[in-house]
Amino acid sequence: MPSLNELAAVRQFFDTGTTTSYAFRIQQLQRLKAVLEKYEEKIYQALYNDLKKSPEECWVTENGLVISEINFAIKKLESWMKPKRVRTNLLNLPSKSFIMSEPLGVVLIISPWNYPLHLLLNPLVGAIAAGNCIVLKSSEFAEATSAIVKIMIEEAFGRNYILFTEGDGAEVVSGMMNQFVFDHVFYTGSTQVGKIIYQMAANNLVPVTLELGGKSPCVVESDADINIASKRIALTKFSNAGQMCVAPDYVLVHESKKEDLIGELKKQLILFFGENPKAHDNYGRIINQKQFDRLMHYFNDGKIVHGGKSDKNDLYIEPTLMTDIQMESAVMKEEIFGPLLPIISFGDRESALNIISKNKNPLAFYVFTSSNKKEKEWLQAVAFGGGCVNNASWHLTNHNLPFGGRGFSGNGQYHGKYSFDTFSHKKAVMKTPTWFDPSIKYPPFKGKLKLFKWVIR
Ligand code: NAD
Repeated sequence: MPSLNELAAVRQFFDTGTTTSYAFRIQQLQRLKAVLEKYEEKIYQALYNDLKKSPEECWVTENGLVISEINFAIKKLESWMKPKRVRTNLLNLPSKSFIMSEPLGVVLIISPWNYPLHLLLNPLVGAIAAGNCIVLKSSEFAEATSAIVKIMIEEAFGRNYILFTEGDGAEVVSGMMNQFVFDHVFYTGSTQVGKIIYQMAANNLVPVTLELGGKSPCVVESDADINIASKRIALTKFSNAGQMCVAPDYVLVHESKKEDLIGELKKQLILFFGENPKAHDNYGRIINQKQFDRLMHYFNDGKIVHGGKSDKNDLYIEPTLMTDIQMESAVMKEEIFGPLLPIISFGDRESALNIISKNKNPLAFYVFTSSNKKEKEWLQAVAFGGGCVNNASWHLTNHNLPFGGRGFSGNGQYHGKYSFDTFSHKKAVMKTPTWFDPSIKYPPFKGKLKLFKWVIR
C-alpha cells in the first residue's frame, strides 16, 4: 500500500498545475500508447497466464481496445477541452455563459480481474485526458497482468503523477481511502464491494463512479433470426469463459423458438471451439479455484443440455447450456460470470418481464427480434445500463456511446467523451458586461412584480 507521503506527493504534483495543459495531456496519452505497443507480446503472455486469452481476443477486448480509446482521445482532446458556449436566458441578457472543463484532482481507479488491462487503463485514458493525477489499483487476482501493467506504468510515468498500487483490495483500498481524500473514485467490480466503496467515499463526500455487475438478460423473440442470434450470443457468452460483465447472463427465448435456438447454439459452439474446447486456442479458463467452485454449484440448478465437463486442476469449465432451470435457485439469483447459459422459455412478454424484474437494473440488456415494434416495447420495458438489438456486448466498443449501469449495476458512465466528462468538473461561468446595468434589477422592488413575472417564466 502506498504511504501517506507518496499520496501527498501526488497531490503536490497536481497542485503545481503541470497536468492541466493540452501539451502535457497529449504527451502522456502518447506515452501510454507507446508502452502498450512496446510491451505488446508481454501483455499477451500475461493475459494468457491469467486467463488463457489468445492474442486475438486480447486485441479486441484488452490492449487493442485501450489503444483505440487513446487514439480517439488524442484526436478529440482539443475540442473536449475548449470551454463550451451555452445560451443565456432572458433574465441575464446580455451576459455570456460558458462551461469550463477542469480536472478533478487526484483520482483513484480500481479494477477487477476479468479484463485486468482494459478495465484499469481505459478509465486511465479519460483521467489523463481530463488532466488529473491518478492512483491505480489493479486486481490481485490477475497477477501476471498486474505485474506487466506495473512495469509499463512505472516506466512511462513519474510516481507522483500516476501511482500504481496492487494487493489485497480490502486492505489497500480502505487503507488509502481512510487516510487520504481523493477527488473521485472510479470503481469497477462487484456490486457487493461497490457498496463498501460507496460508503467509504461518503465519509468525505468523495464522488464515485461505480461500474458494477448484475444479471444481464438476453431476449430472443419469436421473429428473431435464430442463426444470427445463436452466433452472437455464443460469441459473447463464452468469450473469456463467460467472465464478462456484459455477457448475456441468461436467455429468455420465445417458446416457439426454444428448440431451434438450443440446436443452433450447440452447432455454433462446436464451430467456435471444436468438439473439445479444452484443447482449443480460443477458449479461456476460470480465473481461480474460488470462482471455479462457485460456478460448479450452478450445475445443480437445472438440466445440462450441452457441455458440463470440467477440470479443476486446469480451471476449465466447458461451454454449457442449461434448461429446466429452478427459478428460485442460485443460478437465477446471482450473477453467473462464467460459461454456463441458462435458457428459459417464455410465452408472453409479461411473464418474461416478471423474471427480469427479479434482478433489477441489469448492466446490459439484449433483444433479438426482426420487429421494430417489439424492439421498442422491450427497450422501454426494461431499465438497463446499455445494450444491443440483435447483438450482444458490442455497444461497449463504440466510443460515442456512454458505458455504465444504473441502480444496482452502478452509476456514472465512461468511454470516449463520457470518460473525459466523468473525470472533469464542469465549471459554469457567466460573464456580464458592465455597460448595461438597468436599475430594475436592484431594490427597491415594489411595483416590479409584473415585470419579474414576464422575465422569469
Ligand atoms: P471485486 O469487487 O472482488 O474486486 C474489484 C476490485 O476491488 C479489486 O481491485 C479488488 O482488490 C478490490 N476490492 C475487493 N474487495 C475490496 C474491499 N473490501 N474494499 C475495497 N476494495 C476491494 O470484483 P471482481 O470479482 O474482481 O470482479 C467481478 C465483478 O465485477 C462482477 O460482478 C462483474 O460484473 C463486475 N464487472 C463490472 C464491469 C463493468 O464495467 N460494469 C466490468 C467488469 C467486471
